[in-house]
Amino acid sequence: MLKDKIAVVTGGTRGIGNAVVRSFLENGAQVILFGSREETATKAVDAIKKDNPDAKIEGAWPKLADFESISKEIKRIEEKYGRIDILVNNAGVTDSTSVYEYDAKKFSDIIDINVKGLFNAILAVIPYMKKQGGGSIINTSSMVTKFGQTLGVAYPTSKFAVNGLTVSLARELGPDKIRVNAVAPGITNTDMVKNLPKEMIDPLINMIPLRRIGEPEDLSKAFVFLASDQADFVSGEVLYVDGAMIV
Ligand code: NAD
Repeated sequence: MLKDKIAVVTGGTRGIGNAVVRSFLENGAQVILFGSREETATKAVDAIKKDNPDAKIEGAWPKLADFESISKEIKRIEEKYGRIDILVNNAGVTDSTSVYEYDAKKFSDIIDINVKGLFNAILAVIPYMKKQGGGSIINTSSMVTKFGQTLGVAYPTSKFAVNGLTVSLARELGPDKIRVNAVAPGITNTDMVKNLPKEMIDPLINMIPLRRIGEPEDLSKAFVFLASDQADFVSGEVLYVDGAMIV
């Protein structure tokens, strides 16, 4: 479904992002995965190459909150491959701090990665997508945009911002044939969830009508669809992949 497409995936080293990288490769894309550090990005690339030595994969580790850093890396990729068809903004950090223990720095650290980092990558990539006649941008939102979250308020705040940015940019970039969508995972079996307190997770699973938590591969299928030509006329959507989670 993605034969010969050039795809950048931020936060591709583990969890949902890593499943997206693997699914994109299986569907024929050339993938550049971004990690937060050289060590983790290289390790993730090596693990993929161990399973498939011919995988069209490379790693990079620009600083997402720093526009100069990400823009330099996106330029390098465009010069090397001649185009960038797909940008997946998946890197994200969560939080479970009580609002009474918050400070301004904690709040802005989360917004820096989840919103500014994502916006920086979009800003860097859109001139190339416009020049080449289109592209697909997919942001990672969250089920918390259905009903908020009881702790760690910067996290739902950041994901509501992701939805706002997705829906708005789909309108603005549509005339340039750049589609902008988001995938909103429900509770998914990754390190991010393993690190959250049990008392936060267990009651949530009971609220999932499909009665299980999602696996990263449940999510990657949605990313492949939105990245592909099958979703040619789909833009400005937030696709919830959450087992019909209810409150
Ligand atoms: P994870 O913690 O397993 O992976 C997060 C990824 O983001 C990693 O690859 C990490 O390297 C990257 N990252 C984190 N901070 C970074 C930084 N400063 N710079 C560069 N990269 C950084 O988490 P996951 O569960 O796979 O989450 C992926 C996305 O899905 C996130 O945006 C998250 O908010 C969203 N999400 C996850 C769940 C869930 O239940 N797991 C639910 C809703 C939304």
